[in-house]
Amino acid sequence: MNKKLQKILEKADPNRDEIIYLLGLQGEDEKALFKKAAEIKAQYVGKVTWFRGLIEYSNICSKNCYYCGIRCGNKATDRYQLSDEDVLDAAKYAIDNNYGSIVIQAGERSNKAFTDKITELLTKIKSLSDTPPGITLSLGEQSESVFRAWKEAGAHRYLLRIESASRDLYHKLHPENELHSFENRIKSLRLLQKLGYQTGTGVMIGTPFQNMEHLADDLIFMRDFDIDMCGMGPYIEHEQTPLYKHKDQLMPLNDRFRLTLRMISTLRIMMKDINIAAATAMQAIDPIGREKAIMAGANVIMPNITPGCFRNNYKLYENKPCTDEEASDCSSCLEVRIGMTGDKIGYGQWGDPKHYFSRER
Ligand code: SF4
Repeated sequence: MNKKLQKILEKADPNRDEIIYLLGLQGEDEKALFKKAAEIKAQYVGKVTWFRGLIEYSNICSKNCYYCGIRCGNKATDRYQLSDEDVLDAAKYAIDNNYGSIVIQAGERSNKAFTDKITELLTKIKSLSDTPPGITLSLGEQSESVFRAWKEAGAHRYLLRIESASRDLYHKLHPENELHSFENRIKSLRLLQKLGYQTGTGVMIGTPFQNMEHLADDLIFMRDFDIDMCGMGPYIEHEQTPLYKHKDQLMPLNDRFRLTLRMISTLRIMMKDINIAAATAMQAIDPIGREKAIMAGANVIMPNITPGCFRNNYKLYENKPCTDEEASDCSSCLEVRIGMTGDKIGYGQWGDPKHYFSRER
């Protein structure tokens, strides 16, 4: 390992220039970064991967993010919303298979019928078992009263990706209007923290217009915001979106994949005890992409437990894996896959981020 890298890796907290340096590593130096992140993960959060059974509740969305396949402007997508029975069956599947936690994810809607329905579902899921699952929500920006109602109904984690911590880049990825306000995204993240949620955010990696400085600032944003969880993944273009016309600017998919691994490792070094997800988008590029993310410092995986017939319609990006498989197929192969990384699966526990408890103290 070269001396400069060795010196940076020995530090507890790299500065902006050092982060940029880490994000550009290749070859043996890149391997040394992954190794250091794996050591830190083992020391601070253990060699355990937590499962979050992912329920993609609905692809109906009121927003029009430029990169997203289920944006409301994409008329080519068949829209769906799971029935209560489908949601409860999926939650039961997670409970019966000892997943410990579930994630409910959907396009963003803030009308009362939708927000009340989520409250009702949360209450029902929590009463399914004497040992109910931990629940993460990923349902976009909401009012304080809605965030509070969902927390009181049983959700205790919330993932709201900032997508880019640069206001300028954010608005190259989203329309610049009230519905897609960068300031409101930050305000919502603050509200979540204030209300006591375990708060997660994340970014897309390798988008058009993005450079290493942006990505370093994204990681610094996460550190300064004191997040508890991170879900970040490579940008994968979707043909039916406005951002697709900039595809000529993109680095090759495999480079976006490697850069995502370096983002994960660098964040693990910067924020030692948070939870970091191995995003499904990693697997869309590399068949063992999530396992590589786990070995580079991630400790959460989100097996898709959405009923198989709906999965094909929840496509934020193209080539999404496992869209035709039933949950049980994913479950059995995951056991083998996680075993290959050297991690254990944290069956039957919520797997909360340790960072949350030290932050709250
Ligand atoms: S990224 Fe989220 S909020 Fe934006 S269009 Fe897609 S589902 Fe809707």
